[in-house]
Amino acid sequence: MMTISGLSAGYDSIDVLHAVDVTARAGELTVILGANGSGKSTLFRAISGVIRPAAGSVVFDGQDVSRASTAAIVKKGLAHCPEGRHLFPRMSVEKNLNLGAYVGRRNKARTQELLERTYELFPILKDKGKQNAGSLSGGQQQMVAIGRALMSDPKMLILDEPSMGLAPLVTQQVFDAIVGINREGIGVVLAEQNARSALQIASFGYVLAEGRVVLSGPAAELADDSAVQSAYLGV
Ligand code: ATP
Repeated sequence: MMTISGLSAGYDSIDVLHAVDVTARAGELTVILGANGSGKSTLFRAISGVIRPAAGSVVFDGQDVSRASTAAIVKKGLAHCPEGRHLFPRMSVEKNLNLGAYVGRRNKARTQELLERTYELFPILKDKGKQNAGSLSGGQQQMVAIGRALMSDPKMLILDEPSMGLAPLVTQQVFDAIVGINREGIGVVLAEQNARSALQIASFGYVLAEGRVVLSGPAAELADDSAVQSAYLGV
């Protein structure tokens, strides 16, 4: 579904990513692990067209999207939920969610269906639909951010550190919802520092260090790997 080959990208002509190869298969949950500053967010920005790759390609659903606009990439079915949520705090939860449908299919009936699906995945948001997004807890705001990405009706969702700043119990709720999204057949690429929880729900994983893939394999094998255990699992 998505094949990233030899991807180099960065900021102001300084490369942060160096010849990264990552494959995310349709309908699967792929995790990208890595410490602060290893390049996870930069990888996602390059995939979703926020920054232009200096070299390499991103092929999504059979098409090279590495030089496509962000809007074209969303329309093709790849949605990006960025780190830090970026909600409009003074707008209602429902308006924030509906913003996600703007670039995708704007058919009213389909938008309503997508909103219902989002509320099924995050029932707590339905009760809070009319409240300002800024009045919600951190975990609920993260659910709104994921829900907004889902409103574009993606085939694949890339999620940048959804557990950031959340208590363990809330993180578990967010991860349960991610599993639910994946069960709907939506491929998920998840960047996480919370390696233990991420490897439990993923099928395949990559470890980034200083902008390079240093390890990859089935999630269960990575969880057993001694280098991963000492660096990311506190073993
Ligand atoms: P984090 O968990 O802290 O977000 P990350 O793995 O997502 O880490 P990136 O945010 O991709 O890592 O950062 C990789 C490198 O790129 C870091 O050295 C960072 O300082 C640099 N960087 C990130 N964003 C920018 C930017 N907008 N301009 C210049 N350099 C940046």
